[in-house]
Amino acid sequence: MRWSQSFLPTLRESPAEAEIISHQLLLRAGLIRKLAGGLYTFLPLGLRVLRKIEAIVRQEMDRAGALEVLMPCLQPPEIWQQSGRYVTAADVLYHVQDRAKKEWVLGPTHEEVITTLAAGEISSYRQLPRNFYQIQTKVRDEIRPRFGLMRAKEFIMKDAYSFDVSDEAAQVSYQKMYDAYTRIFARCGLQALPVEADTGVIGGNLSHEFMVPAATGENEIVYCESGRYAANIEKAVSQGPLIPTPKTGPGPAPEQFPTPGVQTIDHLAAPPYGVAPHCQIKTLVYIVQSQPVVVLLRGDDQLNEAKFAVALGSNQFRPATAAEVFALLNAHPGSLGAVASTLKTPLNPLYADAALRGAAGMTTGANADGFHLRHIELDRDIRVTHWVDLRTVKAGELCAVTGAPLKIRRGIEVGQVFKLGTKYSETLGARFLDETGKQRPAVMGCYGIGVTRTLQAVIEQCHDENGIIWPPSVAPFVVCITPLSVVHGSPVMTLAEKIYAELSAQGIEAILDDRQERPGVKFKDSELVGFPWRVAIGEKSLAKGEVELKRRGGELMAVKADQAVARVREAVRGGGGGLG
Ligand code: ATP
Ligand code: MG
Repeated sequence: MRWSQSFLPTLRESPAEAEIISHQLLLRAGLIRKLAGGLYTFLPLGLRVLRKIEAIVRQEMDRAGALEVLMPCLQPPEIWQQSGRYVTAADVLYHVQDRAKKEWVLGPTHEEVITTLAAGEISSYRQLPRNFYQIQTKVRDEIRPRFGLMRAKEFIMKDAYSFDVSDEAAQVSYQKMYDAYTRIFARCGLQALPVEADTGVIGGNLSHEFMVPAATGENEIVYCESGRYAANIEKAVSQGPLIPTPKTGPGPAPEQFPTPGVQTIDHLAAPPYGVAPHCQIKTLVYIVQSQPVVVLLRGDDQLNEAKFAVALGSNQFRPATAAEVFALLNAHPGSLGAVASTLKTPLNPLYADAALRGAAGMTTGANADGFHLRHIELDRDIRVTHWVDLRTVKAGELCAVTGAPLKIRRGIEVGQVFKLGTKYSETLGARFLDETGKQRPAVMGCYGIGVTRTLQAVIEQCHDENGIIWPPSVAPFVVCITPLSVVHGSPVMTLAEKIYAELSAQGIEAILDDRQERPGVKFKDSELVGFPWRVAIGEKSLAKGEVELKRRGGELMAVKADQAVARVREAVRGGGGGLG
């Protein structure tokens, strides 16, 4: 490709809309342009990178035995009603109407479509296992599209779906995808860690997310340095809070005391009250299917909403309004509690976090504004109906696997694998006859990679102050040939053309920067766009019979002009940047 004939609109300045470095570099390097919030056009070089990542994904899916298909983006809402996700995934579903006023939805994912296909096509255990995948555009009504391709309304996903005869067989399919993901991200030059993940609204019982560590990531990863434990914070567990819960009982009876104006845990912890947060009980009220549900936690803990959703078996809940709280507990937030003697009617259900088990000498709201109760013992004074782990793990707590202190860092979720079980095959009728002639639902798994998010994650991980540093495997071009002056027929240009022609003939993807620009501009641009190798050809060095070879981010090397092609080939092949 000749730069002068390409379309590579590089920018000196970062557009104000781009908050994170990878988004800035995507725009500055002329790889994408915004149409509207969360909607982007890929420009020619951005598309080259996308196609390379897709090719790696495709090769590894094929190698793992998955079969490529292509499903429609436009889907009938009935299959979503059948699976139950018309309601549980309502927040991301786009709805459209046709001329007959019939409703359709745009696919945010394809479990419903593929399971409908399997229901019609798979009838015998002899047809299993099968794994179908596609690389396709997904549409999600994201509440806050941001960070460019990271969280877009429309994005490209690789999604795969496995169908098996049994749970054990499904585990084998899961492991194949897990291994393929490990290879895919490594081949893209990404460091991506598998972490235990919540299964969310998709359902299922086992899941891992692949996370690219990055300060700008939207996820928090809890991990042990031994490498033996890593989990999304939504799912993470520890040995419990660092300060143990007070448990000495039996003690004195509950005692009410005035706390005028106290509305927060911190306020009650301060003088004159001085009740340490871990000795307080926090009382939260949620509305679940129009019913109030009360949740208790230690005062120094935060509710983990993902764990709460798992406990409820539903993600359809919201915090109660002040009026709903008052109707239930006769008090306003700040003075709420669940002590049985302060309630009009027993609370059912009443969830409590496991860290409160056996707690004694605790303080909580008295369900009378401006009052609290002390000397509370959980087992004696509060009728908990559900004990569950509901707290969010904190850094420094001890790992449940190794006993070492846990750390927390941020990460970008580039992929996720799920063992789904039979939720979709049962609701959508994907059944087969087993060897004994019995009808059984197929055991499913589903596996997603955000292809466009992965592209941006590579930039987030591989850049310096001058621009992108593409891993050769996904670079738009592997070599940039930079003649310092562009005069047709000059020795510099003749050599540049020769090197370009020879590299191209050998299958090494090169771009020839034949623009009439100053060398400084050309160097800046090629560093910004991030080509892994650059061959600079100038009059001075050519007079010595040399050209300059430079790895992006590395040192300059003087190379004999007649050996330039061989040296580039060696460098590129050595660095994995050839066609293989
Ligand atoms: P998130 O938690 O980030 O919203 P998700 O868990 O809902 O993502 P999945 O349904 O697991 O996403 O989709 C598979 C992959 O698709 C994700 O791992 C991610 O890489 C990518 N992805 C999901 N949502 C978006 C989006 N809005 N923009 C770009 N990529 C996305
Ligand atoms: Mg996910």
